[in-house]
Amino acid sequence: MRRVYLDNNATTPLAPEVLEAMRPYLTEQYGNASSIHWFGQQAKSAVENAREQMAKLIHARPNDVVFTSGGTESDNASIFGIVEAAPPHGRYEGKHVIVSSIEHHAVLNAAQALEKRGTRVTYVRVGPDGIVDPKDIEAAIRPETVLISIMHANNELGTVQPIEEIGRVALEHDVYFHTDAVQAVGKIPVDVEKLGVDLLSISAHKFHGPKGTGALYIRRGTNLAPLLYGGHHERDRRAGTENVAGAVGAGKAAELAALNLESSAVRMAALRDRLEDSILGSIPLAIRNGDRERRLPTTSNIRFEHVEGEGFVIAMDLKGIACSTGAACSSGSVEPSHVLSAIGLSKAQARSSIRFSLGRLSTAEDIDYALEVLPRVVEQLRSLSPNYKKEAVSSPLSAVSRP
Ligand code: PLP
Repeated sequence: MRRVYLDNNATTPLAPEVLEAMRPYLTEQYGNASSIHWFGQQAKSAVENAREQMAKLIHARPNDVVFTSGGTESDNASIFGIVEAAPPHGRYEGKHVIVSSIEHHAVLNAAQALEKRGTRVTYVRVGPDGIVDPKDIEAAIRPETVLISIMHANNELGTVQPIEEIGRVALEHDVYFHTDAVQAVGKIPVDVEKLGVDLLSISAHKFHGPKGTGALYIRRGTNLAPLLYGGHHERDRRAGTENVAGAVGAGKAAELAALNLESSAVRMAALRDRLEDSILGSIPLAIRNGDRERRLPTTSNIRFEHVEGEGFVIAMDLKGIACSTGAACSSGSVEPSHVLSAIGLSKAQARSSIRFSLGRLSTAEDIDYALEVLPRVVEQLRSLSPNYKKEAVSSPLSAVSRP
C-alpha cells in the first residue's frame, strides 16, 4: 500500500546523512567525551563540532548551547531552573511565572507542578487566531515575576508567536524569557539575538535528527539551577555522560536544516497551501483553525464539521495516510485539545479537527494521493453522523457534497 506521512510535527524521519554521521559513534568511536585519552578526545571533538553546528542554526555562541535529552528536558530545565535559582534560592513560594494557555504539556505540566510547590502561574489567553498578544504578557507581569515562557510555534496549529516583541517586553521589565522553539527550529529562521530570548528549547527529532536528543540555548550570565545533579558535564550545566552519537546526529541535522531552510520552507508551504486550499474549496463545512499567515510552512489544522477526528485518523491510516488529531502525546486522551479549546472551539469542533503536518520529504504525489482519498473519507464518516444529515436537510447549500 502507498504510505504517505503527514504527521511531521509528531516526529520526522532520520535523514540518511544524519545516520551516517552518527554511525561511527555507535560503533568504533565509543569513547566517553569526558575521558582524557584518545578515545575520549575523539568523542569530545565530535560533540564540540555538533555544538557549533547547532549554535549556527540559531545564531548563538557554541558555549551557550547545552545538549539535552530533548524538548521536554529543555523545557523543564528552563522552568524549574529559573524559578529555583531566583532569589531566595531554592524557594518556590512568592515567585510568579507567565506562560500561554497553548503551550505544549512539557511546559504546561511543569507550570502546574510549580503551582503545587507554591509558585503562582498566569496562563495568558490567545486570540481565536491562536496568537498571544504581547500586551497581555506585559499586563500579567508583577514585581515577583521571574520567568515568561511562550512557545515559538504551536505544535497543533503551527501558529508563530510574536517572540521578538515579547522579548522586548521581557527585557524592559528585566524578566527572564524562555521560548519552546521545538517546532520552529529547523523549519523557520531562528536567531536568539533577534528574538531576545534567554533560554530556547530545541528537539532534534522534529527536524530529521535522532529522538531523545535536543539542546537548550542558555544566554551567558543566566542564573539557572540544574535539573540533574551529577558530574561536571556540559560545563556543569547538565550532568550525565554525553550522548555522543545523539549530539552528533542533532548537529548534523542542524547543519542540513540550515542548508535548505529557505528553499524547504517555500516548497513545503506551497504543498501545504495546495492541500489546504483544495480541501477548503471542495469539501463543505471544512474550516481552517488558526491564523493563515503567521504560522509554520509545514502545518495545516482543519476542522471537518460532523466528522469524528479519531475515526478520520483511523480511516485515513487504513488508506495509508498518517495524520493526527493533535499532539502525539495527547492522543488517546478523552479531553479535547487544550489548544483548540483556547482558541474558542467547542468540544465537538475540537474533536473534528485534524492536523496535517508536512516535512522536507513530503512530495506533490503525497498531496495528490491525500486529496484523492480525503473527500471520500469525510463523506463516509459524515454519512454516519445524524447531525450532519439534519443539517444537510435544513441547509442544502452549505452541506451539499461535491464530487
Ligand atoms: N514542545 C513542543 C512544542 C513539542 O511539539 C514537543 C514534541 O512534541 C515537545 C516540546 C517535546 O519534545 P521532545 O519530544 O523532544 O521531548
